[in-house]
Amino acid sequence: MKVPNLMTAGPTYVRDNVKLARALDVSNPDLDNNFFNFYKEVCEEFSEILNTKNEVRILCGEAILGLEASCASLIEKGDKVLVIDNGIYGNGFKDFVELYGGEVVHFKGDRKKPINIEELSAFLQNEKGIKYGTLVHCDTPTGIVNDVNAICKLLDAHGIISIVDAVSSFPVEDLNVDESKIDIAVIGSQKCLSACPGLTILSISNRAFEAMEKRETRIPSFYCNLLLWKDYYVKKSFPYTLPINDILSLKTSLNNIHDIENFKIRHNAIGEALRLAIKNSGLKLFCEEGFSNTVTSIVLPDGIEDRVFRNHLLTKFNLMISGSLDEYEGKLIRIGHMGENCYKDKISYTLLALEKTFAHFGVFLKSSLANDFISYFEKLY
Ligand SMILES: *Cc1c(COP(=O)(O)O)cnc(C)c1O
Repeated sequence: MKVPNLMTAGPTYVRDNVKLARALDVSNPDLDNNFFNFYKEVCEEFSEILNTKNEVRILCGEAILGLEASCASLIEKGDKVLVIDNGIYGNGFKDFVELYGGEVVHFKGDRKKPINIEELSAFLQNEKGIKYGTLVHCDTPTGIVNDVNAICKLLDAHGIISIVDAVSSFPVEDLNVDESKIDIAVIGSQKCLSACPGLTILSISNRAFEAMEKRETRIPSFYCNLLLWKDYYVKKSFPYTLPINDILSLKTSLNNIHDIENFKIRHNAIGEALRLAIKNSGLKLFCEEGFSNTVTSIVLPDGIEDRVFRNHLLTKFNLMISGSLDEYEGKLIRIGHMGENCYKDKISYTLLALEKTFAHFGVFLKSSLANDFISYFEKLY
């Protein structure tokens, strides 16, 4: 299989040491005490980055498992669930809520702007009996970032237990789980962490565990049952055999990040320089505010066909970027600048390929994306 230069919004490029960690000899994860301790240590490292005393669990399954398991474990028939939606993933929570019998209370925001806290606050004044709330930190198909810290504080003030999809924002955008009273935060291995796809990481508050324990009906799933994970360490028992090699490799990816502060600073500078270069060129960014520093969506100019355009990037430049999803499919292209994608050389090549491809299809930009990006980035970082 020919491997493209991967500049998509996840999965991201996986560094050699992360790949190699999966090839190491391992023990039996169900029987070896050392593995229980190792697992616990990795979980504690995540808690620390999430600024929380809440415990973390790493589950075997892509991040969608984390989102579904949160809904499956909490929501019972008739529970009112606030679905905060200003993007495709925000709206997507509706499916999980309905699947588990919840009653959706839909708060729809402007898709080009972060959720407006005052509007949400006013909305909540008129709503009673909401038990849970779902929201997305960075809604990846458009690249909008919400102030989940402020939103979750508001939800907490209304006694609402929060489920946050932080899959494509962690650990770049600030997430203060304890201070903001975030009950469940869901992360994936294949975005900014640049580990292989296949693991989901969740921080779970005591309040969320208690809500699961107080349910009137059984959690209608085994694989999605978070309660089975609650006392794993005391009991020295996991619900199923964990993919020990994947977890070793995840830990290696965390080690690679090493200096989280600098990691954030680099992502912010890359994101900012990229946006400035795009604006100069005459291309249009999709978002108006709340720009993500992990993914950027660009409006495709009229007359450019998404698939043809991206296919040209792939065949001529061996470069893969993302399109978008649902209503934005065919309308936006996206550059993922998260984790191992987030380096000056990779973004410069991506932008050079983009400007040449635009020219190929008759769109002549006002300035060079690559040149502008490099000079902005050098000023910012
Ligand atoms: C990537 C991602 C997920 C996981 O979805 P996949 O597309 O299956 O990887 C969930 N939520 C968000 C916001 C994501 O970016």
